[in-house]
Amino acid sequence: MRAAVFYAPNNIEIKDVEFKLGQTEVALKVKACAVCGYDTRVYRNGHRKVKPPVILGHEICGETLEEIKTPLGILKPGIRIAVSPIIPCLSCSNCKEQQYNVCNNLKEIGSTVDGGFAEYIKIPPEIIKIGGLIPVPDNLSNQEAALLEPLACCLNGLSRFGKIDKEKYMLVVGDGPIGLLHLQLSKILYRSKTIVIGKIPFRMQKAKSMGADAVFQFDTNTEENVMNFTKGEGVNRIIIATNNSEIFPFVKKVANKNSKINFFSGFSAGNTFEVDPNWLHYNQVSLFGSFSSTPNMLQKAAKLASDGEIDLSQIVTEKCSLDQIEHAISYTEEFHGLRTIIDRF
Ligand SMILES: [Zn+2]
Ligand SMILES: [Zn+2]
Repeated sequence: MRAAVFYAPNNIEIKDVEFKLGQTEVALKVKACAVCGYDTRVYRNGHRKVKPPVILGHEICGETLEEIKTPLGILKPGIRIAVSPIIPCLSCSNCKEQQYNVCNNLKEIGSTVDGGFAEYIKIPPEIIKIGGLIPVPDNLSNQEAALLEPLACCLNGLSRFGKIDKEKYMLVVGDGPIGLLHLQLSKILYRSKTIVIGKIPFRMQKAKSMGADAVFQFDTNTEENVMNFTKGEGVNRIIIATNNSEIFPFVKKVANKNSKINFFSGFSAGNTFEVDPNWLHYNQVSLFGSFSSTPNMLQKAAKLASDGEIDLSQIVTEKCSLDQIEHAISYTEEFHGLRTIIDRF
């Protein structure tokens, strides 16, 4: 099959590779695979989790080639599938609580094992067992279906906030696809007053059209703008959906008492930021992260998109063939459009 094989930083090759299926694995034909910021970081710098050669790509819409029995029912051949890319061990303490995304021995499609920048992918039995193959509703395109995975990750991130009070302010730092998905969820699920901090004019315009209550450019006035908009109150729930570490001092200044801050994005290795423990203590501030999602959330994402609550079509701005993978990666890291999708193989 044709695949984009990652060999080393700045070295990806399109080539024919052997596709050998293990006894307990099933194959899916890849219909679309989106380029995530994670893929661009691995391509440029490598990653401690990634041992090349490997095929990247974890935001996948596939198609069944044979009948597959899953806990959610039988999947007939020719059915489109959104893939949960996490491969849990099923025996650690987190797996026992169905917290598969934080499995202590986690493997991941498109990171530790081959992913979706290829004609076919192998699905290991663990993914089938946890219900990680979700049928794609008919009214979603292949490209939209590929974005159910990041949407599920946003649902996971928001679920970690606990109660979200619509009288208080939600701040989304970042105007990329993940920031805009959080914005849509914040407005639809919680009716929250939502502020977006951005940098790219096209994306900030999108944020306004998607219903952000305020959109501010990240510059020297951002703190003042946010404090004025919130009448001096500051914000209560913060999602960091950027890997620009320059935002840390700003976030600390606008976070109010009892605020919760989710480090949603992965950062390049070596990024750190300082925290005064008394700021956490006296203001009762919570800092936490969120990573990936579980099949339940992928299912919920499929329903939200299919019901038209969340519009994934607005996030798809560029479609490429597999041959154009390097273009797709540069396009993503240079902040052109929103998500770029590989949909021809
Ligand atoms: Zn991703
Ligand atoms: Zn586990």
